[in-house]
Formats: sequence, structure tokens, C-alpha cells
Amino acid sequence: MGHLNALQAIAEANNGNRAAGTPGYAASLAYVEARLQRAGYQTHRQQFSYDRPDFTRATLQRTVPTRTEYAVGRDHRPLAYSGTGSVTAPVTAVDLNLGGDRTTTSGCEASDFTGFPRGTIALVQRGTCQFAAKVDHAVEAGASGVVVLNQGNDPSRLGVFSGTLGRQARVPVLGTTFDLGAEWAATPSTTLTLAVDATVARVTTENLVADTPLGAAERTVVVGAHLDGVIKGPGINDNASGVAAVLETAVRFAELGIQPRNRVRFAFWGAEEDGLHGSAHYVAQLDEAGRRGTARYLNLDMVGSPKPVASVYGGGEPGSGWPAGSGAIQTVLTDFLTSQGVTPQVVRFRASDHAPFLSAGIPVGGLYTGAENGADPCYHQACDRVETINRDMLGLMADAAAHTTLTFAQSPD
Ligand SMILES: [Zn+2]
Repeated sequence: MGHLNALQAIAEANNGNRAAGTPGYAASLAYVEARLQRAGYQTHRQQFSYDRPDFTRATLQRTVPTRTEYAVGRDHRPLAYSGTGSVTAPVTAVDLNLGGDRTTTSGCEASDFTGFPRGTIALVQRGTCQFAAKVDHAVEAGASGVVVLNQGNDPSRLGVFSGTLGRQARVPVLGTTFDLGAEWAATPSTTLTLAVDATVARVTTENLVADTPLGAAERTVVVGAHLDGVIKGPGINDNASGVAAVLETAVRFAELGIQPRNRVRFAFWGAEEDGLHGSAHYVAQLDEAGRRGTARYLNLDMVGSPKPVASVYGGGEPGSGWPAGSGAIQTVLTDFLTSQGVTPQVVRFRASDHAPFLSAGIPVGGLYTGAENGADPCYHQACDRVETINRDMLGLMADAAAHTTLTFAQSPD
């Protein structure tokens, strides 16, 4: 809780956030670095840069059959890497599935655009393939802009959403709600005006790592948490909670004079919230020996949720496709939590810093206490503060992280 209070104070002193590339992030890194150094660690900053797409203007109006103004954030939002420009044109619905199960491959195949009237705005539905594939096909067919309506196949896919094209598009691209998209598709002659001023900023930031001085480097156990937060708030559950658990594990390792058989590397990632940039950079810069020498990765991202659902990553599940060895992490975490009277749920999400390790074939595991379905109503908001943290759960998760780190630090294999 001391670490959480310190990181919240840092956010409050720095425009209310600790996002990558901001003074709040630099101060967060300096705090963790100083605390590690005080415990006796040599620390290492690893600098990297990446592009952060943003926009300075995004507007959407319907001009035909009636004039309606739509609000950015509520009704629509540009996709990251939208093109810049302003266009007024009729809408052409592309292979939508608005009824039944709403399973759709809208825009995923070039053939979806057979007969597409050039110069119109393509209305495609989220689902099945990447946004970039839909937009590429639309642009090839002569679309002057693209609007992606949410898929509508479950309650979490109805409203405005965030998405990325991964690389610069040539035309403006907006995401919108399922209901608005369905309304336009059902209204002949619907004409829209959409305008986007897109920007791309180059961000330079840092990861922070510290190794135990002892232990076999060829069987390194990496334990990590992202140190950045979103721009909208102080980022205490997401993810000062994970940072605190990893940091305190490192401090106690040093204080207790633990002599690990395998090296432990404590890692604090930058720019997770902008797309896992820090962990991806770390994995990308590993040479072959470094990659093969990474025995396991343990990730902590959100471990003090207000209405927590104790969860472990499900790499050991049959059919998970995760590297062999992931199951052992899941088992150690699960056995520990069960021994404490908590039966964890299994989650299999990829959207955190374990993903680049997974892609490199490194066994991974992790802890999580939930964001959706009411687990953390302040997720990615200004109210993600210390007062909302479930202290008992944070304590349990920190214990599980420490226990699991120690188990693999001393593992003979
Ligand atoms: Zn997070």
C-alpha cells in the first residue's frame, strides 16, 4: 500500500496521470528505481521509441435524409491511424449481418466490394478479421471513407469502441455504435460527413529492470508489471497494484538474502497502455541466448480490483496452445491460492505484457483480479485510486507472486 500511495501522489503532482512519455511516468520510474537501489539492486533503464496515433478533430454528421450531429466519444471515435481528411458521401453497407447471431465477415474479403460505388463511404461491421483488412479492401474499391459499426453480437460489443489499423490509412476511418450503423444501413440514401485530423507522435520512454545478483542466467525467471497508466487517471489498480507486488517481492528477496538457484529479473514495462510497446521491445532485443535463457515469464496486471475475481492465466489448459511450462506456472499459482482458501478462475486473455513472451515461445503465467463485469468500475478512469483497492486481495496476490517467484527461482529445471 505504501507503493500505491507513492504512485498516486506522483500522479497527483503530475497532471493526474502516469502515462508513458509524461513527467508522471518519469517520476514513477524514478521511484521504483530508487526503491530497488536502496534494497541493493543494480538497475538498468532500457530506452525505446514508438509511434502514438491520436487525433485533434473528429466530427460526424448525417446530412441526408435528415441532418443530425453525432458526438465524438459517445457516438463515434476515429480508429488509431485513421487518415486525415473530410468527406461527404452516401453510405454503402458492405455485407452486414444485423440479425440473428451477427456473425460477420463484413469487409474481410475483397469480393465483399464487388459492385461497390466508388467515392461512397463504406459501412462495414466489426468482426472476424482485422480492421486494417476491411479498410484496405474498402480503399482498393474506391471508398472515400470508412465507418466501422460495432458487431452487436454481445452486450460488450454494442457501443463506441477503440481500435487500431496498425498503420496509416489513406482515408478517414471512424468506429461507431451498432445501433447507429444499423440505422444508417436501414435508411436508403443516408449521406454522412466525416472529418478527422489525425496525428502521430513519436514517444520515447523506458523500461526498468533489475536482476538478482545470483542465479543461473540461462534459466532466468522474469517477473514483470507495466509501470505506465492511461492518461485519464492515476492508474492505481491498473497497474500500480502489479508494480507494488513485483517491487515488494524484489525488496524482500534482497532483505531476506535469498540466494536463488536461477536468476530472477524484475521488470517494469513502459507503454503497455499504448500497445505493449515496452515488453515487445524487451523481447525483440533479446538475442538467441537471451531468449532461450528466459525460462518463464510471470505477469501481474491489475491485482487489487475493488470487486475482485481472483484469476490465473490459463496456459496449462488443454488446447490453450501456450508453450509447455506455462501449465507449471498456472499450477503453482493455483495451488498457492487454493491453500489460502481461494479457488481462482482461469482467464486466457492476451492483452498484456505476457503476449510478446508468448509469441517468442516462452512459457508464461500471470495473475489478474478483473476489470469488466463490475470487478473494477474505475478501470481506465480518474477514479482508479488507492481508496478503491481491495487490500486483502492485493495482499493475497502479492503473496502468490512472491511464492511463485521463489518457487521458480529455486526450481532445479
Ligand atoms: Zn493494465
